[in-house]
Amino acid sequence: YGGLLENRSFGGVQVSRTFYARGQTGQQLLIGAYQALSRQIAAGAVTMYNRHEMLDLVLIDGKARGIIARNLLTGKLERHAAHCVVLATGGYGNVYYLSTNAMGCNVSAAWRAVKRGAYMANPCYTQIHPTCIPVSGEYQSKLTLMSESLRNDGRVWVPKEKADVEAIRTGSINPAELPEERRDYYLERRYPAFGNLVPRDVASRAAKVVCDEGRGVNPSGLAVFLDFADAIQRYGKSEAHTQGIHSPDVATITKLGEQIVEEKYGNLFEMYEKITGQDPYKTPMMIYPAVHYTMGGLWVDYNLETNIPGLFALGECNFSDHGANRLGASALMQGLADGYFVIPYTVGTFLAKEIRTPAFSTDHEAFAAAEKETDAKLQKLLDIKGSQTVEQFHRRLGLIMWDYCGMSRNADGLTKAKVQIRQLREEFWKDVIVPGAKEEFNPELEKATRVADFMELGEIMIDDALNRRESCGGHFREEYQTPEGEALRNDEEFTYVAAWEWVDGQDSILHKEPLKFEKVELKTRSYK
Ligand SMILES: Cc1cc2nc3c(=O)[nH]c(=O)nc-3n(C[C@H](O)[C@H](O)[C@H](O)COP(=O)(O)OP(=O)(O)OC[C@H]3O[C@@H](n4cnc5c(N)ncnc54)[C@H](O)[C@@H]3O)c2cc1C
Repeated sequence: YGGLLENRSFGGVQVSRTFYARGQTGQQLLIGAYQALSRQIAAGAVTMYNRHEMLDLVLIDGKARGIIARNLLTGKLERHAAHCVVLATGGYGNVYYLSTNAMGCNVSAAWRAVKRGAYMANPCYTQIHPTCIPVSGEYQSKLTLMSESLRNDGRVWVPKEKADVEAIRTGSINPAELPEERRDYYLERRYPAFGNLVPRDVASRAAKVVCDEGRGVNPSGLAVFLDFADAIQRYGKSEAHTQGIHSPDVATITKLGEQIVEEKYGNLFEMYEKITGQDPYKTPMMIYPAVHYTMGGLWVDYNLETNIPGLFALGECNFSDHGANRLGASALMQGLADGYFVIPYTVGTFLAKEIRTPAFSTDHEAFAAAEKETDAKLQKLLDIKGSQTVEQFHRRLGLIMWDYCGMSRNADGLTKAKVQIRQLREEFWKDVIVPGAKEEFNPELEKATRVADFMELGEIMIDDALNRRESCGGHFREEYQTPEGEALRNDEEFTYVAAWEWVDGQDSILHKEPLKFEKVELKTRSYK
């Protein structure tokens, strides 16, 4: 890696304004942030608690004053007191079981805050990323992202005719050899202005449409092609010209083109080949949408403070910046801006008012009560000794969420899903089996607490999706679409942030924060 920056276009944008560093932009940003943290650790300004999981938020007189954490190696519960609490605990895409997120991503920290009174905003806004490696079987527990950057050069298509689809699925035709006139470059056809670079939500739904029509290209019917053959030829010709090679033959052009494509996307192509066993330089990649990012999250104000005084949330765990539809490359930008530029000032402002508040002791009764509750919940999970694993419940929850609250939603499905999730939750608390003990290294117990939280979160996501009777961004309600199948917003009734308050055993309460547009006009997107 040479560390050089360049610009390119990205989904939903027609100019090259997105900075990147080969296929490692995100990773490099993370390394940068981690280095900054490590510097503070080395300077003694930050104490690092690796392998600790926050399991509850402690409130004293209505303000966030600490957390209960579990040491994941010993299983011991610990109390940590502070003048305020900052959560940067990521998104909740794993509520769908299968996602591109790391296996450890979960909603528990944010959810414990919700259980203590924090509002969850726009929880139904989920980003489903169009370029992921398709699901290959039921045993799978993780999906792999192929970067959006690939849509700069890759052309998305499926065959026009079902006969060709069948032949490709059974392997009797090599897709690379299917004549041009028998291919449907459906994004270029439907969105001539943006083509393959429409935003993620639009590209994902379009892939679903062609697969629902029976034109998916893998045996499960849930895959479309992302093809680099044209890009290889285009780059090859240009490179031959640059090198002064006159009248180059096809082999030379292809070789030069592949070299350029390798420079741009080599690491992604290598990853694809390792996972699928297919060479994307020679045969088109297969991709399908997968859950990737959650735009919803803890409600925060302009200072990134939740409705619980002293509780701040930044990065993917808040709802703040992306509305219903996040554009590529902006997640880390938000997280880093929150962390580098916002929080240092807003936390300072909060603390300035607390200058006379003495440090809190972890002997305070609020800590004792929260620790007791956490301990009781862990014990309850261990005591069930049922017959189904946490994984089985998580997988079932994921299926309900994907089928009814995934790429497209409708009132009937969502209503059904709400009932099913409540039933699943009841079953979980009667029949889950969590082996091992509390005070030891016990990943099954960790997973059980997370899945229990996902089951409650799932319900609030469904409430939100049911309530929002319009389509916008990642939230597509089938009842609300234009005759051409595009999202149909209802700005009259729904120009607000939906902030949900959880009430145990009852329906959640909706609080509305109106959206006011002063500097920019509220407009409907068009990529035609
Ligand atoms: C495969 C993939 C590729 C991506 N590529 C890009 C990209 O190129 N550009 C871009 O802008 N965005 C990208 N994103 C999105 C971006 O990476 C995330 O949105 C971003 O990392 C979120 O940062 P965060 O710090 O808010 O949360 P995270 O990075 O998820 O970090 C949360 C941390 O909190 C910890 N945690 C969670 N719960 C608890 C708890 N209860 N107690 C203690 N610790 C806890 C987690 O272990 C984790 O370390 C990508 C995402 C994925 C999945």
